[in-house]
Amino acid sequence: MTGVRPVRRGSIRRGPQAAGTAAAAPPVRVAVVGAGAAGTLTALHLVRGARARGTLLEVVVVDPAAELGRGTAFGTTDDRHLLNVPAVGMSALPDRSQHFVEWRRQRGASVGNDLHVFAPRREYSRYLEDTLWEELRAAADTVRLEHRRAWVTGIEPVAPGSVATGSRPWRLVCHGARPVEADAFVVATGLPEAGTAWAPESLLRSSSFVVDPWAPGALEAVARDRRGLADVLVVGSGLTMVDVALTVLGRTARHDRRLTAVSRSGLLPGAHADRPLPAAVPDVTDWPHDLEGIVARATRHLHEVRDGAGDWRPAVDGLRFRVAELWSRLEEPERAEFLTRYAGPWGRLRHRMPPSSAARVDAFRAAGRLEVRADRVVDARCLGAGGVRVTLASGEVREVGWVVNCTGPALDVRASGNHLLADLLRPRPDGPLASAATAGMGLRTHGGRLLAADGGASAAPVWVLGALRRGELLESTAVPEIRVQAQQVAESLLGTFGPVPGRTAASAAAGREVGVAVATG
Ligand SMILES: Cc1cc2nc3c(=O)[nH]c(=O)nc-3n(C[C@H](O)[C@H](O)[C@H](O)COP(=O)(O)OP(=O)(O)OC[C@H]3O[C@@H](n4cnc5c(N)ncnc54)[C@H](O)[C@@H]3O)c2cc1C
Repeated sequence: MTGVRPVRRGSIRRGPQAAGTAAAAPPVRVAVVGAGAAGTLTALHLVRGARARGTLLEVVVVDPAAELGRGTAFGTTDDRHLLNVPAVGMSALPDRSQHFVEWRRQRGASVGNDLHVFAPRREYSRYLEDTLWEELRAAADTVRLEHRRAWVTGIEPVAPGSVATGSRPWRLVCHGARPVEADAFVVATGLPEAGTAWAPESLLRSSSFVVDPWAPGALEAVARDRRGLADVLVVGSGLTMVDVALTVLGRTARHDRRLTAVSRSGLLPGAHADRPLPAAVPDVTDWPHDLEGIVARATRHLHEVRDGAGDWRPAVDGLRFRVAELWSRLEEPERAEFLTRYAGPWGRLRHRMPPSSAARVDAFRAAGRLEVRADRVVDARCLGAGGVRVTLASGEVREVGWVVNCTGPALDVRASGNHLLADLLRPRPDGPLASAATAGMGLRTHGGRLLAADGGASAAPVWVLGALRRGELLESTAVPEIRVQAQQVAESLLGTFGPVPGRTAASAAAGREVGVAVATG
C-alpha cells in the first residue's frame, strides 16, 4: 500500500521568474498530508503563490490514495452522487467564483442555469486535478510536485533532541516508506472515520455490516447483491443516507428492495431550492454573546427572511458567513451545549440535498421503498444464510440483507485512530506539539498554524485546515471554507519560508529557523 509515486512532475529550473528573485536560495519544501480536496487545494494555492512570487518550491503530497483530489467526498464513482453546493459555490479559486462553471462549460456543459447546477461529485474530483495540473504546467520553471503514497504516522525532529540544527529540522514519519523532510507541513487529513459506538458487538463482526459506505466498493457490494435478503437498514438519515438510497434503490436495483433509515431525529436534511436565492447575510454586530441570545436572534433572522423573501434558505446561507464570528463569542460550556442541542437541527438546514436528489427521495417514499423514522438499533444477530436480524428500540424486529452505517464521522480526533494526529497530541519532553480544540473537533491554531498546549506556536512548523479546524470555526468542512483556508495557509507559509528578493541561501536557511520559532499569538 505504501510507496513512492511520482506524478507528472514539473522540474525545478531557474526560469525567468526565479532568476531575478531567489537566485541563490534553495527551494522551499512543503509536505502536505492528505490528498483529498483540502490537501489538493493547498497544493494548488502553494503552486499559484510560488509562481506569483517567483519562489522555488517543492510540494510533497503524502497519502496512500491513488489519486489526488478524491478523498471521502469526491472519490465516489456513482454519478448519482451529486455535489451539495451549487457549481457557482465550488470554484477552487476564491477570487474567480465561476472557475468551476467555466471548466464545465469548456467540457460541454450547457450554458443556462449552470451556475446553480449540482454536478456529480466525481466530476469535481477531475476539476480539482485538472486545475492543479494546469497551475503546475504554468509554474514548471519553479515548482515541482510529488505524490508519495504512504500513511504518515508521526512527525519528529531530524536530529533528535534538537529542533533547530539543520536547515530542515523536522520530518514526517511514514509507514513503510522513507521519511519526508520539509520546511513546513500541512495536515489535511479530513474528518475522522465513521463512528460505530452505537453498533452492537455482533453487528461489528458481521460481513453484512457496511461500516463505511465511502470505502471503495462498499456500496457496490450492496447494490450488486441480488440473492440475499432484499431489505437494507440504514442507521442515520442525513446526506450520506440519501446517497446510499440513490445507489441501492436506483434504476438498476432489485425491485423487491426496501430501505429503512433510522436515526435519533427521524428527519431528512432540507433540500436546496431549484433556483438561485441570494444569501441574506445578517449584521451580527449587536447580537448577544451568549448561546440562548444568539439562537434567539438567529431564529428571528430566519423568520424575518422567510416572511420577507418567502423562503428560509437565504437566511441559513447568510448565517453561514457569520458562524465563525458567533462561535468565537461562546465559551466552551456553551459550545458543548450547542453541539448537544442545536448542531443536529442546524446541520439539517445548512447541509441540504440537491433538488433532484430530494425529488428521488420523495418518489422512493411515495412508492413505499424508503421509510425514514426515529428509532435506534438495540440488538443484532447474524443470520446463518447471510444478513442480520435487527431489533430496534421500538420493539420491531427486522431481517435485512445489509446494515449500512450512515451516522457520519466521529467527532473527536483524539479517538480517531489516526496515528499522525495521535502523535501530534502525545506528550513530549517539551510538551505536545498540538492541543485539541473544542470537543476534540480538530486542533487549536492561530489562523491555521498549529498551537501548542500553552497557547504559543507549536515547536513544529505545522499548519492545518478543513475538518481539523471545526472546533475553532464550527463550519470548516466544505469547499467554500476550505479553499479560502488553503489560500491563507499557502500565503502564510510562503511568507514565512519563501525567500524574499535579495535573500541568499544562508539567509533563507536562517529564515527557516526564525520561521520555526516565530510567535503566532
Ligand atoms: C459524502 C460527502 C459528500 C460531500 N459533498 C460535499 C459537496 O458537495 N460540497 C462541499 O463543499 N463539501 C462536501 N463535503 C464536505 C467534504 O468534507 C469537503 O468538501 C472535502 O471533501 C473535505 O476534504 P478533505 O481533504 O478535508 O478530507 P478527505 O476527503 O477526508 O481527505 C483526507 C485525506 O487524507 C488522507 N489521510 C488521512 N490521514 C492520513 C495520514 N495519517 N497519512 C496520510 N494520509 C492521510 C486520507 O487518505 C484522505 O485521502 C462532503 C463530504 C462527504 C463526506
